[in-house]
Amino acid sequence: MQAVSLSNQVNTASVAGIAPKIRQLKTFFTSGKTKALVWRIEQLKQIRKMVLEQQDEIFVAMRQDLGRCNMESWTAELGGVISEVDHSLKHLKKWVKPRKVATPIIAQPGKSYILPEPLGTILIIGAWNYPLLLVLSPLISAVSAGNNALIKPSELSANVSKLLAKLIPQYLDNDAFAVVEGAVDETTELLKHQFEHIIYTGGEVVGKIVMRAAAEFLTPVTLELGGKSPCIVDSSTDLEVTAARIVWSKWMNAGQTCVAPDYVLVEKSFAPQLIDAIKNKLTDFYTVDAANSQDYGRIVSERHFLRVISYLDGQDIVHGGKHDITNKYIEPTVVLNPDHDSPLMQQEIFGPILPIVTVTSIDQSISFVNQRAKPLALYIFGKNDELEQQILTSTSAGMVCINDGFMFAANPNLPFGGVGNSGTGAYHGKIGFDNFSHLKTVMKRSFWFDVPLRYPPFTSKKFKLLKKLI
Ligand code: NAD
Repeated sequence: MQAVSLSNQVNTASVAGIAPKIRQLKTFFTSGKTKALVWRIEQLKQIRKMVLEQQDEIFVAMRQDLGRCNMESWTAELGGVISEVDHSLKHLKKWVKPRKVATPIIAQPGKSYILPEPLGTILIIGAWNYPLLLVLSPLISAVSAGNNALIKPSELSANVSKLLAKLIPQYLDNDAFAVVEGAVDETTELLKHQFEHIIYTGGEVVGKIVMRAAAEFLTPVTLELGGKSPCIVDSSTDLEVTAARIVWSKWMNAGQTCVAPDYVLVEKSFAPQLIDAIKNKLTDFYTVDAANSQDYGRIVSERHFLRVISYLDGQDIVHGGKHDITNKYIEPTVVLNPDHDSPLMQQEIFGPILPIVTVTSIDQSISFVNQRAKPLALYIFGKNDELEQQILTSTSAGMVCINDGFMFAANPNLPFGGVGNSGTGAYHGKIGFDNFSHLKTVMKRSFWFDVPLRYPPFTSKKFKLLKKLI
């Protein structure tokens, strides 16, 4: 399947038009309308309606941008949006309620609670690899929490960007939301303004730009970044299922997934069996020639195509390696034992190449992971519970899945986010609601019983008693 882009240019916004748009959104927030539960529920239902009613047009735009088949787009994006909306609609009435907490004796008689309060106008900067999900999923969290938002889709997925700019005003409250299309100039202009929270999904370099700009206004940020996510495979594993799950999570969207396994760590003696099993699954999934498979995607842009291809220089390719710039196709490719200092092992691959790194014993993989930046995701395959616990407790990663690829993303009860260089903050479900809320502390005291203990004049008797209480 070919990634046919009708146009790879987004409709760039007039930079001058950005400031009035932000002012309008902020004024709307101060009206208090977004705080009403009925308004939030209505907007969430409209997001659901938009995705379901417009799914055919969305599928086309995704095919144009990423050469993706409809089923993969549904699994990875549209279905995810629907589940996230449904989860919010099911739990929202409970999430908005004051959360009672215990009150210590020193503050008795009294009661204490946490009152979630909306923050204001949120800036959502999306990424191109899942261009609908990575805009609508943060939007669902933000709206659930009673905020409004300005959305900046990625210019690289131009067709989805254009579609969002057309559909969001059709379905959502026009006074509350705006879509600004564009690239660096528009993002730079947006970052000159004060928002109440910024959520950015993308690479580390721009992540730093966003954080620096936010610091100017002390704006809180959620950074959904990437990194090299390791996949540790122990020889005790179920080979057949492991190979299927690795291939599914690595080559979905032609490897352009932030939580795709970046590389595999496996014992030298077990590597040949694992490589054979992965090759067989690749053929089962995408036939002997993935270029003709309807189910295999394309690289988003020429720049990313050239970046990914350059990682193959001087590598030992044990499977695949064919590529064709005319339709941005890169064959599913497996590389054995790359040089640890090569760009393939230094940069996040974010493409369809899987390096297999062999170790002499599987516990060596722990130090391999710990010598590098904290990854967004870490995968462990095997039936050795002790090893699993050892890896889990001696490494750090944003998210871990044992015996599968990124299935954790399908569970709205789990936070989605990184740690260290792979990101800060998290969203999805209630964690997303909390992320876009101020959890306001409220204590209510009674006038009924006013203990004079804390008031001056201080005496040694008072001090002694106070020490017993605090
Ligand atoms: P990017 O970081 O290059 O660009 C993202 C946005 O930043 C775009 O809107 C662009 O207009 C803007 N931008 C680019 N240069 C800018 C500049 N100099 N000043 C201001 N704005 C600028 O996106 P990318 O690096 O191609 O995205 C891929 C990365 O995103 C990978 O690292 C991947 O792992 C990560 N990612 C993370 C998640 C997640 O949920 N954690 C999801 C998808 C992608």
